[in-house]
Amino acid sequence: MLFYYTPWVDNDYNASLLIANIVAEFNLSTYNSGVDPKNYISVADATNIQTNFELDPICSCCDRFEITNKMRDHAAPFGQLPLEMQIAYADVALLLFPERCEELGPAEQDRFGGGVPITHSMSAPVPYATSSAGFALGDLTAPHELGHVLGGGHQQGNPFGPVTGTPDCARGFLEPNVPQHEQATWQTVMGGYGGNCTFLWFEDPPWDQNCVRIPLWSNPDVYYQGKPTGAMDSPPLADAFMARALNMTMPDVAEWTSYPHAAPATPTLSSNWSGCYGLYQMSWTSQTHAEHYQLLRYDPGAQQWSILAYHGTGTSTTVIVPQSDGSWLLAVRACNGSGCSSLSSSVGVTWQSQCL
Ligand SMILES: [Zn+2]
Repeated sequence: MLFYYTPWVDNDYNASLLIANIVAEFNLSTYNSGVDPKNYISVADATNIQTNFELDPICSCCDRFEITNKMRDHAAPFGQLPLEMQIAYADVALLLFPERCEELGPAEQDRFGGGVPITHSMSAPVPYATSSAGFALGDLTAPHELGHVLGGGHQQGNPFGPVTGTPDCARGFLEPNVPQHEQATWQTVMGGYGGNCTFLWFEDPPWDQNCVRIPLWSNPDVYYQGKPTGAMDSPPLADAFMARALNMTMPDVAEWTSYPHAAPATPTLSSNWSGCYGLYQMSWTSQTHAEHYQLLRYDPGAQQWSILAYHGTGTSTTVIVPQSDGSWLLAVRACNGSGCSSLSSSVGVTWQSQCL
């Protein structure tokens, strides 16, 4: 991803910290929703675009839709956007703008959220999104708009459905089984407010609404407060399984901008230290053109390598096997913009009561 931000955003929020938090929140939320951890986002580059989109009294060009349209049209200050994405090998660009910009603007009855170009489709991508800095994580607007770029639509009944070229289940989901005339208390990331989940204009900050976005993508098998966060095998338009859709669309999105290296070769994993009380240092060989490494743990219940023990740029980490688990199987893979290597040979680590 290529991130753009404005001087005000950097001043008010510390742009690099906000960007790191957006990436971390996105990756944690998809992982917690059952998305394969090989589908993740990372920062290709981040640029201060040196303008705050101050209100122009003649064109009034300072609302989020104006800004999003400028991005779509590569109008100033976005003239270099396609070139910069190519240079950074970015597939998607996200602009963080100051919400106080919109306070000055004409859209005063609107949330200071974000947007995506409505002409975007999976076969003809316009892979840009905008989010105000305060809403980016305040009500998860940044992951939400990224979700649109990745093919997602709002919940059933909302006119903004799945992007052309994505399955019908690529939707947000509102808390189910809410008694009539009562408000829902949550929606998944792709929830677009509306219905019984309303955003209270200006009365409360984005992180303190009656109906909040929870950091989960719809999945009928993942529960929140005892209720499923998605639906499947209902009438097609009622299906909501964004986690499944992301597993289908994210590998395609990764090919929107060509990446110059093949996926890395498979690293070799080894364990160090004695395993005393389950503590191990795991290390792996560094691989050419690897950008991230993922240490995965085998889940004997699900019978798959689905538990992420480490994701990052390093070549070692510590793990602690709890006595109740007894032993773990671990394996590592190396990833870059072309995908991930196959998993390494597995290494077993076992809880031991004695330090050798
Ligand atoms: Zn939306």
